[in-house]
Amino acid sequence: DTALVWFRRDLRHFDHAALHHALAQSRQVYCAFIFDRAILDDLPRPDRRIDFIHASLTELRAALQEMGGELIVLHAAAERAIPELAQALGADAVFANRDYEPAAIKRDQNVATALNKAGRALYTFKDQVIFECDEVLSQSGTPFSVFTPYKNAWLKKLHTGPEDAWLQAYDTESQQGQLAAAPKALQHMPSLKELGFTPSNLHELKIPTGMNGGQMLLDDFGERMSQYHQTRDFPAVKGPSYLSVHLRFGTVSTRALVRRALLTMRAGNGAGNSGAATWLSELIWREFYFMILHHHPHVETHAFKPAYDAIKWESGKHAEALFAAWCEGRTGYPLVDAAMAQINQTGYMHNRLRMVVASFLIKDLGIDWRWGERYFAEKLNDFDLSANNGGWQWAASSGCDAQPYFRIFNPVTQSEKFDADGKFIRRYLPQLAQLSNKHIHAPWKAAPTSLQTAGVVLGENYPKPIIQHEEARARTLQRYAVVKKVT
Ligand code: FAD
Repeated sequence: DTALVWFRRDLRHFDHAALHHALAQSRQVYCAFIFDRAILDDLPRPDRRIDFIHASLTELRAALQEMGGELIVLHAAAERAIPELAQALGADAVFANRDYEPAAIKRDQNVATALNKAGRALYTFKDQVIFECDEVLSQSGTPFSVFTPYKNAWLKKLHTGPEDAWLQAYDTESQQGQLAAAPKALQHMPSLKELGFTPSNLHELKIPTGMNGGQMLLDDFGERMSQYHQTRDFPAVKGPSYLSVHLRFGTVSTRALVRRALLTMRAGNGAGNSGAATWLSELIWREFYFMILHHHPHVETHAFKPAYDAIKWESGKHAEALFAAWCEGRTGYPLVDAAMAQINQTGYMHNRLRMVVASFLIKDLGIDWRWGERYFAEKLNDFDLSANNGGWQWAASSGCDAQPYFRIFNPVTQSEKFDADGKFIRRYLPQLAQLSNKHIHAPWKAAPTSLQTAGVVLGENYPKPIIQHEEARARTLQRYAVVKKVT
């Protein structure tokens, strides 16, 4: 009769599977979010993600209050807090949307066990994906490990059944009268300070938060979606949607995004609308990596392809120094350094640049991909274990459907191709702003007079390159020789 909806990475009140089912099955519905000490305690301070969540919760709480309910927000260990809260509120069951990360699965199992012991239940629902890990399988019933056939099967399944049946929004309005206000003692929402965090620069950066922010970005991107395939690779161009952090925290509904992509494809030229079709592919990549992590949990710590675990990476003080230069954007390769400045200053990095810096760390500096993966996990606002791991293993060539090991990005060529006018580099490395388009990609190749005119002193206001790409390339091919026979 009484339900508790536990919000996690689904910070919205509309098109929400768990909220919909709780309202449909119960007379009284409480809502809660736990700032989980098990996660928060290990985070750096400040952390933009905490600001993002906090701002999004403030909006969600107001929206639920407007519907007659409340959002109870606690700072506690979720595994204990949820069963205790269910008991305190007299809830018979807890409703939540499924989370597919290994740590979350374990947490949910523990919560379910504790609830069961007290005669209560945990009901979980598919919400953050269109198809769960076992819903798209090959004809022989096995999981895919190559993207294109997975995508084809995904699209085929989407078009089975009544039009857009998989994309129906979950109604949460018609029974909103059942939302319950929280007891007075549970109405306080902890401030950032009470959570032990100082504010980050998220608001200064004007990164839109919450459901309104997500909707605004989607509307804005909607206008550009049909050009996405042409603009997505150029970091100085407003090409992608910037919705990743909203997908991460569920301030947008993935069903709404897929509906929007299909609408654009249909309004345009059917399959001819390459922009929308390409963007839809990216949303499918997201589900592909969820599926890979689920079926191959070893990828969290090991190469997807076991032979790649035999690679010997650089180690010791030498490796640590190279890694620190990469993290701090001091490699002497402008595109790499500008990209690292972007992640360090904003928590976002353009997809093309994620590929470039990952390749540079692994295949130019010879550093274990897991070091880079960990750094991204700490910095990215949109950090998602499965996509991050998938991206890093793709760059390391150790992943499923990864780029071949002998394909090694040239950081200068990438720069010339994707930031030809150096617009992105100039934005993040103002000390190079006066260099010509010809020299900005590889300042060490410029004549001393050109450097002087531009006010660049290599080794002083901008580093000399820490490695020579051609030599590094040869070393990498040797390093990867251990996997040659099996690839
Ligand atoms: P758009 O281009 O507008 O794409 C729309 C959405 O599709 C994204 O928001 C994202 O949810 C999904 N998507 C796009 N590309 C990918 C992809 N390659 N894999 C999985 N999903 C994708 N994405 C994350 O969400 N979290 C991560 O932690 C993450 N780490 C990455 C690490 C590396 C080394 C690489 C190469 C890629 C990583 N990506 C990650 C994928 C991709 O770079 C980002 O999703 C994208 O840049 C986010 O910007 P956007 O929302 O503007 O993307």
